Amino acid sequence: MSIGTNWAKYHEYRATTLHQPGTIDELQEIVSTAPKIRALGSRHSFNDLADSAELVSLTAMDPNIVIDDETDTVSFSAGLTYGELGVVLQDAGWALRNLASLPHISVAGAIATGTHGSGVNNGTLARAVSGLDIVTASGELRSIGPVDPEFDGAVVSLGSLGIVSRITLDIEPTFDVRQDVFTGLTWSSLLENYDGIVSRAYSTSIFTRWVGDAVGDVWLKSRIGDRKPPQELFGAALATTELHPLPGASSSSTTTQGGIPGPWIDRLPHFRMGFTPSNGDELQTEYLVPRRHAVSAISAVRQLGDRIAPHLHVSELRTMAADSLWLSGAYETDAVGIHFTWKFEPDAVLALLPVIEDALAPFDARPHWGKLFHAVRRELYPKLGDFVALAEELDPTGKFRNDYLERNVF
Ligand SMILES: Cc1cc2nc3c(=O)[nH]c(=O)nc-3n(C[C@H](O)[C@H](O)[C@H](O)COP(=O)(O)OP(=O)(O)OC[C@H]3O[C@@H](n4cnc5c(N)ncnc54)[C@H](O)[C@@H]3O)c2cc1C
Repeated sequence: MSIGTNWAKYHEYRATTLHQPGTIDELQEIVSTAPKIRALGSRHSFNDLADSAELVSLTAMDPNIVIDDETDTVSFSAGLTYGELGVVLQDAGWALRNLASLPHISVAGAIATGTHGSGVNNGTLARAVSGLDIVTASGELRSIGPVDPEFDGAVVSLGSLGIVSRITLDIEPTFDVRQDVFTGLTWSSLLENYDGIVSRAYSTSIFTRWVGDAVGDVWLKSRIGDRKPPQELFGAALATTELHPLPGASSSSTTTQGGIPGPWIDRLPHFRMGFTPSNGDELQTEYLVPRRHAVSAISAVRQLGDRIAPHLHVSELRTMAADSLWLSGAYETDAVGIHFTWKFEPDAVLALLPVIEDALAPFDARPHWGKLFHAVRRELYPKLGDFVALAEELDPTGKFRNDYLERNVF
């Protein structure tokens, strides 16, 4: 019997075994003897990336969270979610630089796919990684750090190098953030002032449904102590009530807005821990486009607005700083993430994806590895050959390979 479905209930895992080791020794034994196995995180990917004949979850392992205030790092067992880790860090006076839209995802799953939040000076979440312990195909435990030549290939790994058992992340002293929402931004203002808008706060999210004269809402997350948010944002007005990213949805699950300061853990995600995030009845797609093409790429997608809107809950535009991680969507380029939260209409969505990818083709769009896409253009990953060589070294028999990886990477 299958071990169930992903979070979106779109993919039913073909795996019939879910191992839950309690110790590293048990994990090494399981990995060394399984013919085909992969790690399962918190099941938030929308495609078959995680799947295999057997899966292993690390949620039964001791979290063993160790904060090192000399190196400003935290290390912990790879089964943890950002929410679980974040509460401990905040209690101890520490913070992560950035978070994705929700704290429910596992750290290991997020970094494996290049998951990101927003901010022109914030890299993807994987950029915070400063060390990994990986159980490779033979069952050997290998520690990889920034001084190792394979480090940049091992962080955004798509789970194909082995099972990450322990992660070290860079941390910083805790900080407070305020969240202010602006409504009524016009398309002409967005396209004229794109850089000014996305640079106006620590983290910026622009929500749109692509149709009509108004873009939608803009969420600014500003660090307390940095520049205060404006009273008016390039013609958009401060919202007078709290809003959900999905037009008309209740704001009860969203993090506090209205400029009220609060700790990073309660403001950087859009959704609160303990609530069902987002809509739940949805699919997601996202393309990471070099930021120099942002305005042209956004305009190209807008041309498709009438075809996209009937199937869309909402889109979100975010930014991230360049990194050196081989399979990252922001590899060697500052990037804009053009994201789609779709209605749960798989046939219509899958039919639209090649159309959107054609429109974005001139702008070197790399799909988010954990969301739905039509095709990966391998030429957009200059280090793909090195990645394949690294995978073949650590996993000579293809124990961690699956259909997704054969289609898109190998
Ligand atoms: C509601 C919702 C909101 C989202 N918001 C964002 C967002 O704001 N920004 C964004 O970029 N993405 C977002 N995503 C996408 C999500 O962050 C990614 O799909 C992420 O990979 C999910 O992590 P997971 O732990 O659920 O991974 P899974 O789906 O369980 O697995 C993903 C990959 O990670 C690998 N993996 C997991 N654990 C390990 C391990 N210990 N060792 C090796 N490999 C491992 C798996 O093998 C697999 O290849 C969102 C998804 C949902 C459902």
